[in-house]
Amino acid sequence: MTVEFNADLLVKYDTYGPRYTSYPTAVEFSDSFGDAEYRRELEQSNQLQTPLSLYFHIPFCKSLCFYCACAKIITHKQERSIPYLERIHTEIARQAELVDPNREVSQLHFGGGTPTFLHDDQLSALLWEISRNFTLAPPESREFSIEIDPRAVRKTTIPLLYELGFNRISLGVQDFDPKVQSAVNRIQSVEQTFAVIDAARAAGYRSTNVDLIYGLPYQTVESFSTTLDTILSKRPERLAIYNYAHMPDKVKAQKLINDDDLPSPETKLAILEMTVERLQGAGYVYLGMDHFALPDDELTLAKHNGQLQRNFQGYSTYADTDLIGIGMTSIGKTNHSFSQNMRQEDDYFAAIDSGSLAIARGYQLSFDDRIRRDVIQSLMCQNEVVYETVSARYGIDFFDYFFREMRQLAGMAMDNLVIINAHRVAVTPTGQLLLRNIAMVFDAYLHPTESRHQFSKVI
Ligand code: SF4
Repeated sequence: MTVEFNADLLVKYDTYGPRYTSYPTAVEFSDSFGDAEYRRELEQSNQLQTPLSLYFHIPFCKSLCFYCACAKIITHKQERSIPYLERIHTEIARQAELVDPNREVSQLHFGGGTPTFLHDDQLSALLWEISRNFTLAPPESREFSIEIDPRAVRKTTIPLLYELGFNRISLGVQDFDPKVQSAVNRIQSVEQTFAVIDAARAAGYRSTNVDLIYGLPYQTVESFSTTLDTILSKRPERLAIYNYAHMPDKVKAQKLINDDDLPSPETKLAILEMTVERLQGAGYVYLGMDHFALPDDELTLAKHNGQLQRNFQGYSTYADTDLIGIGMTSIGKTNHSFSQNMRQEDDYFAAIDSGSLAIARGYQLSFDDRIRRDVIQSLMCQNEVVYETVSARYGIDFFDYFFREMRQLAGMAMDNLVIINAHRVAVTPTGQLLLRNIAMVFDAYLHPTESRHQFSKVI
């Protein structure tokens, strides 16, 4: 699927909206969903033998990147990780007790924070704890990935992680321009970055993803073009190009970024246009949202086969797994529910020490939520919705059920964002960069006046 850039339409549809790594979004989670509800949902998914994903949140970072909206703890004290890991080990055992051992873990992800803040022996011990409590899928049918900060990784760590079972890595880069790096407090050399990519290739990892961000202070089309050229010379299998969401009222660290240093909306659009053209010209395939991959990458193949999925980590090839989130702030998805752990370290420690599961809030999906989630997932991943598929799966008449939404989509069809025919709605090349807007038509929870405070800009 190629992307056609239309600046007028991007301006017309520019608004605030979710990224749909889940539906409903985390904004709808409430504390009426706790341990008891979680256990009930997990029990039901044990009956269904749904495959498993595990997510581990390692919150520690040695320095603060000013744009960062992640849940992190900034510290130089390595020993801060010791009490945290003790709780993680306890939580692993507590969660594993609830899971049918016949269910295999096909996906595992370490995120943060900076997972490689941990020493090699701590990483090894953690993997050992996971493997003795859960049943891991065989190496050829699993995807184990980890986020790497090239500034905080030892020479031994990349080969060690491969030996421990990881087969994909994701690198934070953002921008190579020294002025931009200084303005966001993330100084990272090309050499540091390339050394990690080279080490991953030498070790045998299946793919490397690189994250870049556009819209950071002092970026220009020319400077970002240089960053792109530099990273493309290494031809990473996957690239995620995120739009910087400047929300200093919500993300405290962003107050350290001077509003006046940010590129204008026109410059951001020009950077986006250049980026899309450059990546497509270099042979990358647009997967949706901010993600690109080489034509022979598993994600691209999954997109062509209609198997691409969207979850809290972005895009994935693994369908319908249940996700168990471990560590502070981690989000899980079990059967027809979402759950999120305590967001503060103290609360997380207190909950684990008291013998509970540390679940702070969650959400029980209704029948309507499940239908809408399916439709949104289909738009975000397959770029189409086939009426008959949804009608048959849920025993509804698609047109009756989504009468209001189809009328709204008709306006988008006039703008050539979608094509509506007798069998399906399909996103056009022009609609690709406005996928969020198209999905938002099916979202029952959006409040136009509040979205501004809850979500980032679509463009
Ligand atoms: S961007 Fe990564 S390394 Fe920087 S503060 Fe956020 S989590 Fe830590």
